[in-house]
Amino acid sequence: MKDLAALGEFGLIDLIRARFPQPVAPELGIGDDAALLSPSVGSQVVVSTDLLTEGVHFDLSFGPDRLLGRKALAVNLSDIAAMGAVPRWFFLSLAIPAGFALETLEGLLDGLAEQAAEHRCMLAGGDTCGSKGGLTISVTIMGEQQPAHILKRSGARPGDEIWVSGTLGDAALGLQQLLEGKRLGLADGALILRQLDPAPRCRLGVLLAEAQLVNAMIDISDGLLADLGHICEQSGCGAEVTLNHLPLSAAFRSAVAHQADLPWSLALCGGEDYELCFTAPPAHHAAILAVAKTAGIPVTVVGKVTGSGQVQAILPDGTIFKPSRSGYTHF
Ligand code: ADP
Ligand code: MG
Repeated sequence: MKDLAALGEFGLIDLIRARFPQPVAPELGIGDDAALLSPSVGSQVVVSTDLLTEGVHFDLSFGPDRLLGRKALAVNLSDIAAMGAVPRWFFLSLAIPAGFALETLEGLLDGLAEQAAEHRCMLAGGDTCGSKGGLTISVTIMGEQQPAHILKRSGARPGDEIWVSGTLGDAALGLQQLLEGKRLGLADGALILRQLDPAPRCRLGVLLAEAQLVNAMIDISDGLLADLGHICEQSGCGAEVTLNHLPLSAAFRSAVAHQADLPWSLALCGGEDYELCFTAPPAHHAAILAVAKTAGIPVTVVGKVTGSGQVQAILPDGTIFKPSRSGYTHF
């Protein structure tokens, strides 16, 4: 079987290129010194980048390589969704250790290609080099949207309802199960799948933005409390979250059923759900439910924006919740 050394840098780039449809003239993708891209007239280009490092963001033993490829693009798609923009192009940079299994790399590329096709996002270039450490995958994504529709973190207003899509805490609980040695394919893998194969809320993000119903939006990568905190900080306001209203999946509830207290910290501070959190005037409540129905993603009001500078979570007994963990921080 062919290995990475035999393939070489340019052989690998050819192998990558073969998996992805390429932009057509007047656009230009892989193969020149730079890509040429043509955003739609009147649109702003929305750009985001994410770095995934082995040992920090992923463990190759946790699941199929294909899912790691899907996730590498999903986390970037989620950032574009959180701006209310449409994903268009991405760049893929790889730092690969010598002797790295070509099969693993191919699985990863298959997953990336699958996710890219699902979201009609085109690979337009990248960079490839060796690594003295583990595998590093960097994706830079570009999307577009008309300036008037783009949603920032800074637009929340006191009195807004705070909404979240989908359910919270599943990915964090899935990671716990992986760390306990559980793997996909054994028993109920629903939570593990939410950790390994998150679904970016692209359609919901764009529909909400284009309906002009929402004041501020963010994707939940570091936990609701931390990410809602970013909205509040940039909007100059506070928030009150009602824990009783947090949307929890049936898989989450059954996995924690043996515990005396619900693990609120997981739902409130657990990362990597890649759901959307947004704030909107209460007058838009019914219209938002209708948009979410069109997108096929449930949405739930979990609290309200306040004029204070604090982000607080209220327990079912009315007392203020003190999380036992905060969102993930690197240093
Ligand atoms: P340069 O030497 O100018 O950096 P490269 O030889 O690295 O150019 O890249 C040649 C072409 O292959 C470029 O179009 C680049 O975008 C593309 N490319 C390199 N690595 C990747 C990758 N990992 N994924 C996608 N395209 C890549
Ligand atoms: Mg290069």
